Amino acid sequence: MIKSLLIANRGEIACRIIRTARRLGIKTVAVYSDADADALHVRSADEAVYIGPSPARESYLVGARVLEAAKRTGAEAIHPGYGFLSENAEFAQAVLDAGLVWVGPKPKSITAMGLKDAAKRLMQDAGVPTTPGYLGDNQDPMHLAAEAGKIGYPVLIKAVAGGGGKGMRLVEKPEDFFDALASCQREASASFGNDVVLIEKYILSPRHIEVQVFGDSHGNIVHLFERDCSLQRRHQKVIEEAPAPGMDEVTRTAVCAAAVRAAKAVEYEGAGTIEFIADGSQGLHADRIWFMEMNTRLQVEHPVTEAITGQDLVEWQLRVASGEKLPKTQDELAIDGWAMEARLYAEDPARGFLPSIGRLEVLQIGLTPGGRIDSGVDEGTEVSPFYDPMIAKVIAHGATRAQAIERLSAMLRETVVYPVRTNAAFLVTALGHPQFLAGTVDTGLIGREGDAMVQAQGPSKAALARAAETLVNRSRVPGFRLNAAPQRHGRFLLDGKPVEIALAGPGTEHPRTSAIVSENGQAWLLTPWRRTGAHGAAVGDGAIVAPMPGKVTMVHVRQGQAVKKGQKLLTLEAMKMEHTLAAPFDGNVADLRVEAGAQVQVDSLLVRIADQEH
Ligand code: ADP
Ligand code: ADP
Ligand code: MG
Repeated sequence: MIKSLLIANRGEIACRIIRTARRLGIKTVAVYSDADADALHVRSADEAVYIGPSPARESYLVGARVLEAAKRTGAEAIHPGYGFLSENAEFAQAVLDAGLVWVGPKPKSITAMGLKDAAKRLMQDAGVPTTPGYLGDNQDPMHLAAEAGKIGYPVLIKAVAGGGGKGMRLVEKPEDFFDALASCQREASASFGNDVVLIEKYILSPRHIEVQVFGDSHGNIVHLFERDCSLQRRHQKVIEEAPAPGMDEVTRTAVCAAAVRAAKAVEYEGAGTIEFIADGSQGLHADRIWFMEMNTRLQVEHPVTEAITGQDLVEWQLRVASGEKLPKTQDELAIDGWAMEARLYAEDPARGFLPSIGRLEVLQIGLTPGGRIDSGVDEGTEVSPFYDPMIAKVIAHGATRAQAIERLSAMLRETVVYPVRTNAAFLVTALGHPQFLAGTVDTGLIGREGDAMVQAQGPSKAALARAAETLVNRSRVPGFRLNAAPQRHGRFLLDGKPVEIALAGPGTEHPRTSAIVSENGQAWLLTPWRRTGAHGAAVGDGAIVAPMPGKVTMVHVRQGQAVKKGQKLLTLEAMKMEHTLAAPFDGNVADLRVEAGAQVQVDSLLVRIADQEH
């Protein structure tokens, strides 16, 4: 077994690989860019090497920098994760040429599957059913249009070098063909430096079914069953599950056998995924499921397969790369229960799913029995514009599909993220969609009904009242109690907008702190109307608590120091503003709890001022 491993990636996948490596006693080396200097993957690894500026092209995508880092630290092997250099055959070869272990398939297997047209030809030769279409070398637009006509509309134009949902155009009718072709070619040459396209029949009621395969260097290949990733937005997966709903044993056996044939055709080693497209209009049947492409790497959604098989696929990758045999034979693998994963993104569904960047002042993800959270960030992390804004993969395993859905939904409903916006509420809505519950989702569902699924909703009256009560009660003078208090209204600011909230009992006239109101995966900040942001919250006993979640940027006093009323104690940066916290009366610094740089939660005690008598 290898003894040290460099992870040529970032975020959740780097953290996830580090976890398994550590468990196996393997030393880990992280690499990082400027934007990631303080990232969780850097803090989790045994060692970390800086490899360049924030844009991936200048750091994570520069193979030479990664190799240099491996040499410098004496790392024996390189794990590429997914994305970045993972499907770059040239880089894989350079790793091998440098005498290092590449945790992935042989470069020639990556090349064979790298272009969609070549891969489809190879699969046809191996007897794997492929989507009807045109793979020709003749790229003349007139010829392509004629081929599209022969296939029959609607058709899909796909860049052969495409990936990640890019470089694809759906064409519904012949008149639109040439415009779609030109725009597809432009995107393909800009993104992939290759404008060759293929044409495929567009499958109606398409379901995305994929099979996890694994090979070793001794010629063994197994499958670890299928996943269903049909819930997509713009050809990007949103929720993934295993097994696929409605998959009967006969169909499963046929599809998984086709996947193993596909992997054998390229002498596959390591973790790979064979993606199929199914015509789901009449349920799943082997003769209506076709090969789409192979991803020659670990997949984002691999945790659902781990959950239903009880295997650690990263451990499998490391063992296979070390020359060991596959940990299990096909007969030893079975499906246990149901698993579901949602991709929690820093994005704003109400604004067309635009990335929502900024600091994660509050980050709490619910955890249920059977739950798993794979994340590459923690509270205080800045979601930067440089990389994919995924916050976490939230995964739930249950005995049945219904239980997995309910557990995943509960985790998302209990998720609180602020002030960055997330798709948590949208995911909850998607999980509760009748078609999703029935297990008959096609890839177009969000495209058709997405608008209705993202309707912006404020907090319920009950949630607001609960949050407002905590503010008012918190500010009460200790020992002060009134029964039979009259109902009254309090004035507050909800994310900066005025609201009146009915309060059940008495409180002070001047509540001073703020609270996060969270409900169903959404979060808002509630602050008292009178707060100016200029003073911190000091209750009668001199305790200064954080008025909102943020970061302490400066500490102006020392433990034990004498201070005057109004003297600056701390500077807190929160919600993109600076807040100065001042002494509420003359006294001394009795209990200084924080230092500069500390990330603090709303209401956490920062410092206590004792008056002169104490
Ligand atoms: P999955 O099928 O697991 O959703 P994708 O094919 O969408 O995987 O890609 C997984 C990761 O790789 C994503 O982070 C995606 O952005 C990245 N990726 C995929 N293809 C490319 C590419 N051609 N260039 C750069 N990144 C890519
Ligand atoms: P990428 O490399 O970008 O992942 P894929 O070929 O895997 O490209 O296709 C991405 C998604 O596009 C699929 O998951 C599916 O939703 C849709 N898709 C691809 N091919 C077809 C097809 N022939 N008919 C209908 N939908 C398709
Ligand atoms: Mg794909």
